[in-house]
Amino acid sequence: MSDQSFETLAIHAGQEPDAATGAVVPPIHQVSTYKQDGVGGLRGGYEYSRSANPTRSALEENLAALEGGRRGLAFASGLAAEDCLLRTLLSPGDHVVIPNDAYGGTFRLFAKVVSRWGVEFSVADTSDVQSVRAAMTPRTKVVWVETPSNPLLGITDIPLIAGVARAGGAKLVVDNTFASPYLQQPLSLGADVVVHSTTKYMGGHSDVVGGALITSDEALGEELAYHQNAMGAIAGPFDAWLVMRGIKTLAVRMDRHGENAARIAAMLTEHPAVGQVLYPGLASHPGHEIAAKQMRGFGGMVSFRVAAGEEAAVEVCNRTKLFTLGESLGGVESLIEHPGRMTHASAAGSPLEVPSDLVRLSVGIESAEDLLADLRQALG
Ligand SMILES: *Cc1c(COP(=O)(O)O)cnc(C)c1O
Repeated sequence: MSDQSFETLAIHAGQEPDAATGAVVPPIHQVSTYKQDGVGGLRGGYEYSRSANPTRSALEENLAALEGGRRGLAFASGLAAEDCLLRTLLSPGDHVVIPNDAYGGTFRLFAKVVSRWGVEFSVADTSDVQSVRAAMTPRTKVVWVETPSNPLLGITDIPLIAGVARAGGAKLVVDNTFASPYLQQPLSLGADVVVHSTTKYMGGHSDVVGGALITSDEALGEELAYHQNAMGAIAGPFDAWLVMRGIKTLAVRMDRHGENAARIAAMLTEHPAVGQVLYPGLASHPGHEIAAKQMRGFGGMVSFRVAAGEEAAVEVCNRTKLFTLGESLGGVESLIEHPGRMTHASAAGSPLEVPSDLVRLSVGIESAEDLLADLRQALG
Protein backbone atom coordinates (compact mmCIF):
# COMPACT_ATOMS: atom_id res chain seq x y z
CA MET A 1 0.00 0.00 0.00
CA SER A 2 2.70 2.49 0.98
CA ASP A 3 4.07 2.62 -2.61
CA GLN A 4 0.81 4.22 -3.67
CA SER A 5 0.41 7.95 -4.03
CA PHE A 6 -1.30 10.12 -1.46
CA GLU A 7 -4.52 10.52 -3.45
CA THR A 8 -4.89 6.73 -3.74
CA LEU A 9 -4.09 6.06 -0.10
CA ALA A 10 -6.57 8.75 1.01
CA ILE A 11 -9.36 6.81 -0.69
CA HIS A 12 -8.23 3.22 -0.09
CA ALA A 13 -5.93 2.82 2.95
CA GLY A 14 -7.84 1.04 5.71
CA GLN A 15 -10.95 1.00 3.49
CA GLU A 16 -11.20 -2.57 2.19
CA PRO A 17 -14.77 -3.34 1.06
CA ASP A 18 -16.73 -4.85 3.99
CA ALA A 19 -16.01 -8.60 4.22
CA ALA A 20 -19.62 -9.56 4.97
CA THR A 21 -21.51 -7.39 2.46
CA GLY A 22 -19.02 -5.89 0.02
CA ALA A 23 -20.07 -2.37 1.11
CA VAL A 24 -17.54 -0.12 -0.62
CA VAL A 25 -17.35 2.34 2.28
CA PRO A 26 -16.61 1.14 5.84
CA PRO A 27 -19.95 0.97 7.68
CA ILE A 28 -20.66 3.05 10.78
CA HIS A 29 -20.35 0.38 13.47
CA GLN A 30 -22.57 2.15 16.00
CA VAL A 31 -21.99 -0.41 18.72
CA SER A 32 -20.45 -0.58 22.19
CA THR A 33 -19.76 -4.30 22.67
CA TYR A 34 -19.14 -7.48 20.64
CA LYS A 35 -20.31 -11.09 20.96
CA GLN A 36 -17.50 -13.38 22.07
CA ASP A 37 -17.28 -16.91 20.67
CA GLY A 38 -16.67 -18.46 24.09
CA VAL A 39 -14.93 -16.48 26.84
CA GLY A 40 -12.11 -14.49 25.27
CA GLY A 41 -13.03 -15.61 21.73
CA LEU A 42 -12.88 -12.21 20.05
CA ARG A 43 -13.73 -11.74 16.37
CA GLY A 44 -11.04 -9.55 14.83
CA GLY A 45 -9.86 -8.44 18.28
CA TYR A 46 -12.99 -6.40 19.01
CA GLU A 47 -14.14 -6.50 22.62
CA TYR A 48 -15.48 -3.06 23.64
CA SER A 49 -15.63 0.12 21.56
CA ARG A 50 -13.49 2.30 23.84
CA SER A 51 -10.61 -0.13 23.17
CA ALA A 52 -11.34 -0.53 19.45
CA ASN A 53 -14.20 -0.09 16.99
CA PRO A 54 -14.04 -1.16 13.32
CA THR A 55 -15.03 2.27 11.96
CA ARG A 56 -12.43 4.00 14.11
CA SER A 57 -9.85 1.34 13.18
CA ALA A 58 -10.46 2.06 9.48
CA LEU A 59 -9.82 5.78 10.08
CA GLU A 60 -6.76 5.08 12.25
CA GLU A 61 -5.20 2.86 9.57
CA ASN A 62 -5.91 5.56 6.98
CA LEU A 63 -4.35 8.29 9.14
CA ALA A 64 -1.18 6.24 9.65
CA ALA A 65 -0.87 5.67 5.87
CA LEU A 66 -1.39 9.35 5.00
CA GLU A 67 1.28 10.56 7.43
CA GLY A 68 3.65 7.72 6.50
CA GLY A 69 3.52 6.42 10.09
CA ARG A 70 3.05 2.98 11.65
CA ARG A 71 0.30 3.85 14.14
CA GLY A 72 -2.62 6.27 13.95
CA LEU A 73 -5.08 7.01 16.76
CA ALA A 74 -8.34 8.94 16.49
CA PHE A 75 -9.70 11.07 19.32
CA ALA A 76 -12.81 13.05 20.23
CA SER A 77 -11.03 16.36 19.50
CA GLY A 78 -7.61 17.77 18.71
CA LEU A 79 -7.17 18.77 22.34
CA ALA A 80 -8.14 15.28 23.54
CA ALA A 81 -5.34 13.94 21.31
CA GLU A 82 -2.89 16.51 22.72
CA ASP A 83 -3.89 15.67 26.30
CA CYS A 84 -3.37 11.93 25.69
CA LEU A 85 0.03 12.60 24.10
CA LEU A 86 1.25 14.84 26.93
CA ARG A 87 0.10 12.49 29.69
CA THR A 88 1.82 9.61 27.88
CA LEU A 89 5.14 11.42 27.38
CA LEU A 90 5.45 13.56 30.52
CA SER A 91 5.80 13.15 34.28
CA PRO A 92 6.07 15.72 37.08
CA GLY A 93 9.44 17.50 36.89
CA ASP A 94 9.64 17.32 33.09
CA HIS A 95 9.96 20.36 30.87
CA VAL A 96 8.49 21.23 27.48
CA VAL A 97 9.42 23.85 24.88
CA ILE A 98 6.33 25.39 23.28
CA PRO A 99 6.11 27.85 20.39
CA ASN A 100 5.42 31.57 20.83
CA ASP A 101 2.77 31.26 18.14
CA ALA A 102 0.35 28.38 18.44
CA TYR A 103 -3.30 27.48 18.68
CA GLY A 104 -4.67 29.26 21.78
CA GLY A 105 -6.16 26.06 23.17
CA THR A 106 -2.78 24.31 22.99
CA PHE A 107 -1.23 27.13 25.02
CA ARG A 108 -4.10 26.99 27.52
CA LEU A 109 -3.59 23.21 27.92
CA PHE A 110 0.06 23.78 28.87
CA ALA A 111 -0.44 26.96 30.92
CA LYS A 112 -3.59 26.07 32.87
CA VAL A 113 -3.82 22.28 32.95
CA VAL A 114 -0.52 20.43 32.42
CA SER A 115 1.43 22.97 34.50
CA ARG A 116 -0.72 22.09 37.54
CA TRP A 117 0.76 18.58 37.41
CA GLY A 118 4.34 19.75 37.83
CA VAL A 119 5.32 20.03 34.17
CA GLU A 120 7.16 23.23 33.33
CA PHE A 121 7.30 24.92 29.96
CA SER A 122 9.34 27.60 28.21
CA VAL A 123 8.18 29.59 25.22
CA ALA A 124 10.47 29.81 22.17
CA ASP A 125 10.37 31.21 18.67
CA THR A 126 10.58 27.85 16.89
CA SER A 127 11.44 29.53 13.57
CA ASP A 128 14.74 30.50 15.25
CA VAL A 129 16.97 27.54 16.13
CA GLN A 130 18.93 29.61 18.70
CA SER A 131 15.73 30.43 20.52
CA VAL A 132 14.83 26.71 20.73
CA ARG A 133 18.35 25.75 21.91
CA ALA A 134 18.25 28.47 24.57
CA ALA A 135 14.87 27.26 25.86
CA MET A 136 15.94 23.62 26.28
CA THR A 137 16.98 22.27 29.68
CA PRO A 138 18.33 18.86 30.76
CA ARG A 139 14.73 18.03 31.73
CA THR A 140 13.19 18.89 28.34
CA LYS A 141 11.22 15.87 27.12
CA VAL A 142 9.15 17.46 24.36
CA VAL A 143 9.68 20.20 21.79
CA TRP A 144 6.31 21.28 20.36
CA VAL A 145 6.10 22.84 16.92
CA GLU A 146 3.16 24.14 14.91
CA THR A 147 4.01 24.88 11.26
CA PRO A 148 2.47 26.80 9.62
CA SER A 149 1.45 28.35 12.92
CA ASN A 150 -1.90 29.68 14.04
CA PRO A 151 -2.63 32.54 13.47
CA LEU A 152 0.66 34.18 12.33
CA LEU A 153 1.53 31.57 9.65
CA GLY A 154 5.09 31.26 10.98
CA ILE A 155 7.22 28.49 9.46
CA THR A 156 9.52 26.18 11.43
CA ASP A 157 12.27 24.16 9.76
CA ILE A 158 11.19 20.67 10.88
CA PRO A 159 14.43 18.73 10.11
CA LEU A 160 16.53 21.42 11.83
CA ILE A 161 14.45 21.45 15.03
CA ALA A 162 14.17 17.64 14.96
CA GLY A 163 17.96 17.53 15.17
CA VAL A 164 18.04 19.95 18.10
CA ALA A 165 15.34 18.00 19.96
CA ARG A 166 17.08 14.67 19.38
CA ALA A 167 20.44 16.04 20.52
CA GLY A 168 18.78 17.15 23.76
CA GLY A 169 17.04 13.81 24.33
CA ALA A 170 13.58 15.27 23.63
CA LYS A 171 10.82 14.18 21.28
CA LEU A 172 9.66 16.50 18.50
CA VAL A 173 5.88 16.87 18.22
CA VAL A 174 4.48 18.65 15.14
CA ASP A 175 0.93 19.97 15.00
CA ASN A 176 0.24 19.45 11.28
CA THR A 177 -3.33 20.78 11.32
CA PHE A 178 -2.75 23.81 9.04
CA ALA A 179 -0.83 21.88 6.37
CA SER A 180 -2.59 18.49 6.44
CA PRO A 181 -0.56 15.43 5.38
CA TYR A 182 -1.24 16.27 1.73
CA LEU A 183 1.01 19.33 1.96
CA GLN A 184 3.51 18.20 4.61
CA GLN A 185 4.56 14.92 6.25
CA PRO A 186 6.48 15.75 9.42
CA LEU A 187 7.41 12.13 10.30
CA SER A 188 9.48 11.90 7.12
CA LEU A 189 11.18 15.18 8.15
CA GLY A 190 12.24 13.85 11.57
CA ALA A 191 9.24 14.44 13.86
CA ASP A 192 8.42 11.74 16.43
CA VAL A 193 4.69 12.40 16.65
CA VAL A 194 2.20 14.28 14.47
CA VAL A 195 -0.88 15.90 16.01
CA HIS A 196 -4.04 16.87 14.11
CA SER A 197 -7.24 18.61 14.81
CA THR A 198 -9.19 16.56 12.25
CA THR A 199 -11.97 19.11 12.83
CA LYS A 200 -10.18 21.28 10.27
CA TYR A 201 -8.88 20.24 6.81
CA MET A 202 -9.11 16.47 7.36
CA GLY A 203 -12.84 16.59 8.09
CA GLY A 204 -13.05 19.60 5.80
CA HIS A 205 -16.79 20.31 5.99
CA SER A 206 -17.25 22.02 9.39
CA ASP A 207 -19.47 19.16 10.54
CA VAL A 208 -17.32 17.18 12.99
CA VAL A 209 -14.88 17.71 15.88
CA GLY A 210 -11.99 15.24 16.08
CA GLY A 211 -8.29 14.77 16.67
CA ALA A 212 -5.47 12.39 15.80
CA LEU A 213 -1.97 11.25 16.76
CA ILE A 214 0.35 9.48 14.33
CA THR A 215 3.81 8.03 14.99
CA SER A 216 6.34 5.77 13.27
CA ASP A 217 7.60 4.50 16.63
CA GLU A 218 5.73 1.26 17.29
CA ALA A 219 6.55 1.14 21.01
CA LEU A 220 5.34 4.71 21.47
CA GLY A 221 2.26 3.88 19.36
CA GLU A 222 1.47 1.05 21.79
CA GLU A 223 1.86 3.35 24.79
CA LEU A 224 -0.39 5.95 23.19
CA ALA A 225 -3.02 3.32 22.41
CA TYR A 226 -2.82 2.12 26.02
CA HIS A 227 -3.43 5.66 27.28
CA GLN A 228 -6.15 6.29 24.70
CA ASN A 229 -8.04 3.31 26.12
CA ALA A 230 -7.16 4.10 29.74
CA MET A 231 -8.30 7.74 29.43
CA GLY A 232 -11.14 7.17 26.97
CA ALA A 233 -11.37 10.31 24.80
CA ILE A 234 -11.93 8.30 21.60
CA ALA A 235 -13.58 9.35 18.34
CA GLY A 236 -17.09 7.90 18.14
CA PRO A 237 -18.01 5.74 15.11
CA PHE A 238 -20.06 8.40 13.30
CA ASP A 239 -17.43 11.08 13.86
CA ALA A 240 -14.70 8.70 12.62
CA TRP A 241 -16.81 7.99 9.53
CA LEU A 242 -17.29 11.71 8.81
CA VAL A 243 -13.54 12.34 9.03
CA MET A 244 -12.88 9.42 6.66
CA ARG A 245 -15.44 10.80 4.23
CA GLY A 246 -13.70 14.17 4.35
CA ILE A 247 -10.23 12.68 3.82
CA LYS A 248 -11.22 11.09 0.49
CA THR A 249 -11.32 14.56 -1.11
CA LEU A 250 -8.48 16.13 0.91
CA ALA A 251 -6.06 16.33 -2.02
CA VAL A 252 -8.41 18.13 -4.41
CA ARG A 253 -9.69 20.41 -1.66
CA MET A 254 -6.18 21.41 -0.55
CA ASP A 255 -5.19 22.25 -4.14
CA ARG A 256 -8.19 24.57 -4.47
CA HIS A 257 -7.75 26.09 -0.97
CA GLY A 258 -4.15 26.89 -1.93
CA GLU A 259 -5.00 28.41 -5.33
CA ASN A 260 -7.68 30.65 -3.83
CA ALA A 261 -5.47 31.66 -0.88
CA ALA A 262 -2.59 32.62 -3.21
CA ARG A 263 -4.87 34.90 -5.23
CA ILE A 264 -6.28 36.51 -2.09
CA ALA A 265 -2.81 37.02 -0.57
CA ALA A 266 -1.69 38.72 -3.81
CA MET A 267 -4.72 41.05 -3.80
CA LEU A 268 -4.26 41.94 -0.12
CA THR A 269 -0.57 42.73 -0.68
CA GLU A 270 -1.62 45.45 -3.15
CA HIS A 271 -4.51 46.82 -1.08
CA PRO A 272 -3.95 50.23 0.58
CA ALA A 273 -6.03 49.34 3.69
CA VAL A 274 -3.76 46.34 4.46
CA GLY A 275 -0.56 46.77 6.46
CA GLN A 276 1.04 43.34 6.20
CA VAL A 277 0.03 40.01 4.66
CA LEU A 278 1.12 36.78 6.35
CA TYR A 279 1.10 33.91 3.85
CA PRO A 280 4.01 31.48 3.42
CA GLY A 281 3.42 31.39 -0.34
CA LEU A 282 4.53 35.02 -0.68
CA ALA A 283 8.20 35.40 -1.59
CA SER A 284 8.35 38.20 1.03
CA HIS A 285 7.40 35.78 3.87
CA PRO A 286 10.48 35.08 6.07
CA GLY A 287 9.73 31.33 6.02
CA HIS A 288 8.95 31.11 2.31
CA GLU A 289 12.02 29.12 1.30
CA ILE A 290 11.73 26.62 4.15
CA ALA A 291 8.01 26.19 3.44
CA ALA A 292 8.78 25.62 -0.26
CA LYS A 293 11.29 22.93 0.77
CA GLN A 294 9.17 21.00 3.26
CA MET A 295 5.63 21.55 1.91
CA ARG A 296 4.05 20.67 -1.44
CA GLY A 297 1.91 23.83 -1.35
CA PHE A 298 1.27 26.72 1.02
CA GLY A 299 -2.25 25.97 2.23
CA GLY A 300 -5.47 27.91 2.61
CA MET A 301 -4.84 30.11 5.65
CA VAL A 302 -4.05 33.81 5.19
CA SER A 303 -3.68 36.41 7.95
CA PHE A 304 -3.28 40.15 7.49
CA ARG A 305 -2.94 43.31 9.56
CA VAL A 306 -5.31 46.18 8.96
CA ALA A 307 -3.38 49.44 8.62
CA ALA A 308 -5.94 51.54 10.51
CA GLY A 309 -5.77 49.36 13.65
CA GLU A 310 -7.93 47.17 15.88
CA GLU A 311 -11.36 48.75 15.40
CA ALA A 312 -10.89 48.78 11.62
CA ALA A 313 -9.85 45.09 11.74
CA VAL A 314 -13.01 44.22 13.70
CA GLU A 315 -15.06 46.22 11.17
CA VAL A 316 -13.60 44.22 8.26
CA CYS A 317 -14.66 41.01 10.04
CA ASN A 318 -18.17 42.41 10.52
CA ARG A 319 -18.56 43.56 6.91
CA THR A 320 -17.82 40.43 4.85
CA LYS A 321 -20.87 38.67 3.41
CA LEU A 322 -19.43 35.54 1.82
CA PHE A 323 -16.67 34.99 4.39
CA THR A 324 -18.62 33.84 7.45
CA LEU A 325 -17.58 35.37 10.77
CA GLY A 326 -16.65 32.41 12.91
CA GLU A 327 -13.95 30.42 14.69
CA SER A 328 -12.40 27.22 13.31
CA LEU A 329 -10.96 26.71 9.84
CA GLY A 330 -10.30 24.21 7.08
CA GLY A 331 -13.86 23.76 5.81
CA VAL A 332 -15.05 24.17 2.23
CA GLU A 333 -16.68 27.49 3.18
CA SER A 334 -14.58 30.61 3.76
CA LEU A 335 -14.37 31.98 7.30
CA ILE A 336 -13.05 35.23 8.74
CA GLU A 337 -12.19 36.04 12.35
CA HIS A 338 -10.41 38.46 14.69
CA PRO A 339 -7.93 36.21 16.58
CA GLY A 340 -7.28 38.74 19.36
CA ARG A 341 -10.93 38.73 20.44
CA MET A 342 -11.90 35.23 19.30
CA THR A 343 -9.65 32.14 18.86
CA HIS A 344 -6.67 33.60 20.69
CA ALA A 345 -8.45 35.56 23.44
CA SER A 346 -7.11 32.99 25.96
CA ALA A 347 -3.52 34.03 25.03
CA ALA A 348 -4.07 37.70 26.01
CA GLY A 349 -1.31 38.96 28.31
CA SER A 350 0.88 35.90 27.56
CA PRO A 351 3.92 35.58 25.26
CA LEU A 352 1.43 34.22 22.69
CA GLU A 353 -0.70 37.36 22.55
CA VAL A 354 -1.48 38.25 18.90
CA PRO A 355 -1.54 41.73 17.30
CA SER A 356 -4.89 43.46 17.83
CA ASP A 357 -5.11 44.59 14.17
CA LEU A 358 -4.85 41.00 12.89
CA VAL A 359 -7.53 39.34 10.77
CA ARG A 360 -7.39 35.62 9.93
CA LEU A 361 -8.96 34.06 6.85
CA SER A 362 -9.70 30.40 6.27
CA VAL A 363 -10.02 30.54 2.51
CA GLY A 364 -12.62 28.08 1.24
CA ILE A 365 -13.13 26.49 -2.15
CA GLU A 366 -15.78 28.88 -3.50
CA SER A 367 -15.02 30.90 -6.66
CA ALA A 368 -11.92 33.03 -6.13
CA GLU A 369 -13.61 35.93 -7.96
CA ASP A 370 -16.50 35.98 -5.49
CA LEU A 371 -14.13 35.80 -2.51
CA LEU A 372 -11.95 38.63 -3.85
CA ALA A 373 -15.01 40.82 -4.46
CA ASP A 374 -16.27 40.21 -0.92
CA LEU A 375 -12.93 41.14 0.66
CA ARG A 376 -12.60 44.26 -1.51
CA GLN A 377 -16.03 45.53 -0.41
CA ALA A 378 -15.27 44.73 3.26
CA LEU A 379 -11.93 46.59 3.12
CA GLY A 380 -13.83 49.61 1.73
C1 LIG B 1 -8.32 23.65 16.26
C2 LIG B 1 -6.90 23.37 16.52
C3 LIG B 1 -6.50 22.53 17.58
C4 LIG B 1 -7.49 21.95 18.57
O1 LIG B 1 -8.34 21.03 17.97
P1 LIG B 1 -9.86 20.77 18.44
O2 LIG B 1 -10.33 19.76 17.46
O3 LIG B 1 -10.58 22.08 18.36
O4 LIG B 1 -9.80 20.27 19.84
C5 LIG B 1 -5.15 22.26 17.71
N1 LIG B 1 -4.23 22.78 16.89
C6 LIG B 1 -4.57 23.60 15.87
C7 LIG B 1 -3.50 24.15 14.98
C8 LIG B 1 -5.90 23.93 15.65
O5 LIG B 1 -6.23 24.75 14.66
